[in-house]
Amino acid sequence: MWYRHPVFLRELSHSVTQLKGAGSQVAGKLARLGIFSVADLLLRYPRDYDDRSAFVPISAYARGARTHTIALVLGHEWFGYGRMRTLKLRVRDESAEAVLICFNRPFLEKQLPVGARILLSGKFQLRYGEIQASAFEVELLNEGSLERPAALLAGILPVYPLTDGLKQGTLRKLVRAALTEYGAHVEDELPSAIMARRDLLPKCEALCEIHFPTSAAQLTSARRSLVYEELFYFQLAVARRAARRRESPRPARASAGLLRRRLLERLPYALTPDQERSVAEIAQDMASPYPMARLLQGDVGSGKTLVALLACLDAIESGGQAAIMAPTELLARQHAGVAARLLEPIGIRLAFLSGNIEDAARPPLLAALKKGEVDLVLGTHALFSDEVVYRDLRLAVIDEQHRFGVLQRLALGRKGPPPDLLMMTATPIPRTLALTVYGDLALSVIRTQPPGRKPIITHLARDDNAGKVYAFVRRLLAEGRQAYFVYPLIGEGESERAAELKNAEAMARRLKDEVYPDYAVGLVHSRLKDEEKRRTMDAFVRGELKILVATSVIEVGVDVPNAAAMVVEHAERFGLAALHQLRGRVGRGTEQSYCFLVYSEKGLTEDGKARLKAMLETADGFTIAEEDLRIRGPGELAGTSQAGALRLTIADPVRDQAILENAREDAFALVTADPNLLVPENTVIREVLARAKPFGDAPVGLG
Ligand code: ADP
Ligand code: MG
Repeated sequence: MWYRHPVFLRELSHSVTQLKGAGSQVAGKLARLGIFSVADLLLRYPRDYDDRSAFVPISAYARGARTHTIALVLGHEWFGYGRMRTLKLRVRDESAEAVLICFNRPFLEKQLPVGARILLSGKFQLRYGEIQASAFEVELLNEGSLERPAALLAGILPVYPLTDGLKQGTLRKLVRAALTEYGAHVEDELPSAIMARRDLLPKCEALCEIHFPTSAAQLTSARRSLVYEELFYFQLAVARRAARRRESPRPARASAGLLRRRLLERLPYALTPDQERSVAEIAQDMASPYPMARLLQGDVGSGKTLVALLACLDAIESGGQAAIMAPTELLARQHAGVAARLLEPIGIRLAFLSGNIEDAARPPLLAALKKGEVDLVLGTHALFSDEVVYRDLRLAVIDEQHRFGVLQRLALGRKGPPPDLLMMTATPIPRTLALTVYGDLALSVIRTQPPGRKPIITHLARDDNAGKVYAFVRRLLAEGRQAYFVYPLIGEGESERAAELKNAEAMARRLKDEVYPDYAVGLVHSRLKDEEKRRTMDAFVRGELKILVATSVIEVGVDVPNAAAMVVEHAERFGLAALHQLRGRVGRGTEQSYCFLVYSEKGLTEDGKARLKAMLETADGFTIAEEDLRIRGPGELAGTSQAGALRLTIADPVRDQAILENAREDAFALVTADPNLLVPENTVIREVLARAKPFGDAPVGLG
């Protein structure tokens, strides 16, 4: 059982216009920031703080510090004429005498009479022999008071994200008013046992302290409390989703692994230990009475496809069907090719389905799926469109794709037990993200590459050395190897800066006509028809084309072991994850492979430099992913942004990993103890829960 706080909900959902100082103009500006209610206002946490808890005398301007001091008004002077007439306030604190230039603030003459004591905050500079400030904040102190005032300018002040025309001061006043008038309505939402165990501040206090910290230590506590709360609700949603999947057991689906063994006997190599473990974990999930939701994570080239095929064999042996979905037609065809080579000889009935299958071919194919005459179907998202009906789909494999809406539809349209779900990704997911975005998925990881691979040699080259790179690649071509050339743009006129950048179309012509006239060159990019892309890819796979010029369409999954060179031009324009994926296209055979990152100094940013450096220093996908996370921040990591981003307001799963682990432990313990746990229904929590669905509703919808 849980507490519910209708009071919190009702009172704090009052419009901000109820607050003093929030007229219709201010309310309009707040609306632009997405702030409508008092709760919205209180939950818009500061992005930074301006610490004025310590006094800084005027004389400290010399070392560039911002003054924060108590001063005395010595005199008023004016300069300029007419509308330009400007007030000059002469002031003094214990350290120095200075001048305040009051542009557009003539009223200060009356407000701050000679002899007044003021609290003064500003940035001073030496100008015309005077210590001057024109950007300053000032507040009159009570006559005779020497004490630190509880004034607006004192203490650690919040700095809010703003919109045009809204001042920090206005927002600060409003938040203060909201805390004073409504603070009493904020009650604790977390169970008191958890608050005690994790040493969290009461919600009301945490809110007060996050906006107007009374000390640095209190700010830290407040932040920790609010971060915990946010992550706790997030994990609660994850825990409930996991629990829901276990609600209705299904009949056991035993497979003795006979088909698996038959395939393994025919392979010229053995599974790597990591592949072996992944296969075992998947088999165990599939034999359990609850549907599997597992993520198979392994760096490019680690051999995930084979693991997926082995899982499919289990589903087929138990009497059902399996489907493998790839994000592009290119990849789907490649998987279908592998499956045909490996599985047809052991009697598996295969089919291929994509949006491009001709109309005439469709009805018999769909009929075969429905009748169960197909064991394994491979294709694009067309596999899960409404017209496709399976006789008994038991396993759905999704490669390199994080859009799960299709699966949800599949689950809804079906009767009977939901299929097992295996997702595969080459994006190594740092532990923190695995716990949040993928928090309810089981995880299998392939860390080691199949044996016999030589590490790829990576070189950086400035663009004026591109000729040397081309010459090196020529030697590899002469030895019979193949090469990729990748560019950031498809053709000219694609962006305003296109003129400065090499593009795939122009470079394909140049490489064919001038650089490698004696080798066959092909071109693929996303604007070509699928049919043409396929013909070009097939020719490259068969080795008829020696050079493939491309955009990042070949980033994911393409497997041509004879390709030994990856040349990325304008490498500074690519993200770290993309560069890593591109490099993963080579080094798949037993030959020594090379990756050339050709960069232009012109477009090279600090981040760009950091990315190239990371590529040079490590080949390990996990290290690269951590580095990527560091350079870009968690919100943008490939997997997460595709999965519908993790929009947290105060928590940062990387920085707050320790809190995350605690929150997860508590949330799961709570759900385990009471699967029907009532979650409080106030606005804040509802919003957090709504955000906590990283995949839309699937894979929950499956469970
Ligand atoms: P990815 O994990 O990037 O999808 P793939 O499944 O495409 O990798 O595998 C990359 C290559 O490694 C393929 O050519 C595959 O045949 C080969 N491979 C997979 N497993 C092994 C193994 N255990 N030993 C040797 N080669 C393997
Ligand atoms: Mg793959």
